[in-house]
Amino acid sequence: MIELAIPDLSGNERKYLNECIDTTFVSTVGEFVKRFEKEVARKAGAAYGTVVSSGTDGLHMALTACGVGRNELVCIPAFTFIATANAVVHCGAEPWLIDIDEKSWTMDPELLERELAEKAYEKDGKLFHRGSGKRIAAVMPVYTMGMPADMDRIRDVTDKYHLPLVADAAAAIGAKYKGRNIGNLADATVFSFNGNKTITCGGGGAIVGDNERIIERAKHIATTARVGQDYDHDMVGYNYRMTNLQAAVGCAQIERLEEFVIKKHYISDYYKEHLKGIPGIAFFPETDWGESVCWFTGLVLDDTRNVREVCDRLADKEIQTKPFWKPVYMQKPYLHVEKSDMDVTEKIWRHILTLPVSTCLTEKQLESVVMAVKEIL
Ligand SMILES: *Cc1c(COP(=O)(O)O)cnc(C)c1O
Repeated sequence: MIELAIPDLSGNERKYLNECIDTTFVSTVGEFVKRFEKEVARKAGAAYGTVVSSGTDGLHMALTACGVGRNELVCIPAFTFIATANAVVHCGAEPWLIDIDEKSWTMDPELLERELAEKAYEKDGKLFHRGSGKRIAAVMPVYTMGMPADMDRIRDVTDKYHLPLVADAAAAIGAKYKGRNIGNLADATVFSFNGNKTITCGGGGAIVGDNERIIERAKHIATTARVGQDYDHDMVGYNYRMTNLQAAVGCAQIERLEEFVIKKHYISDYYKEHLKGIPGIAFFPETDWGESVCWFTGLVLDDTRNVREVCDRLADKEIQTKPFWKPVYMQKPYLHVEKSDMDVTEKIWRHILTLPVSTCLTEKQLESVVMAVKEIL
């Protein structure tokens, strides 16, 4: 079976894990945690960074550190992995879903602005939702499949309303925005190191940014809100710290980040080159502002085809492919949340087919995928 997205662990992973075992530093204190924290911030072009146990926990901590609390609203795109919405609810808040822009599949800045202008009012320097009276506490775009949102334009909107801006960049480490690294475009930017992401710790996440206060606060809350060396805690915190074992794998993986990103681009270009010309297909969006890491790559199929059927037929040929995210407002816990019109999400989500993108794919495997896809489509 050629799998969809599996990690390449052929670097220093084993060596670093053995160091953890030999030194007994397997828990949340250790050299790899410190090193990984520094490396993630450095590679993302951010001044500060802290690591946590998952991307979801990272989003939860970033939002909390930016002041999101109970009975508030956070604007997120509707087309995302459910973890984006869950992290909002973990803060006691609720998502307000905004449609994506067709050019990028990321949060539409014009629509965000229009929604806020129509459905919100300002009072005492704060922004409230007209219908529910809830405070709007933050905006959190998602870097879909590793493509940055148009952050300059989203920043214009959040600046206008004095709202914190958190980026769900879960799959986007290594991406570029207008030629720059992406680690300081938002007040806090969150990465995931889940097993299927471009680099992995098995499970893990990071929060990076240029605002020391926000990153330190996120770290504090994720570390049981401990003050000093003894058992003093100044609030209800969480036990979300990354372990040295996870960080050991992360350190080995991040050494190869550039290599992996090059390979992701190669895979994406390969499919485009070899599959173009098949009638009724299109590729994932490219933008003039961002360079995606192509975490996932694949096809947009037209109405004549059923993505699930295509996946099943490819599975018969030992090639694993998948449909992509089902929008948040179609998920049971989020059927009734506030949302904008969903024209673009509605139009695209059923048509996406993701193809194998593991960085360890061989030339021969890529050829097999292309042959099978051509045959079936
Ligand atoms: C992977 C992902 C997450 C969640 O990260 P975990 O590490 O699995 O908790 C959140 N948002 C997006 C957009 C993701 O792709």
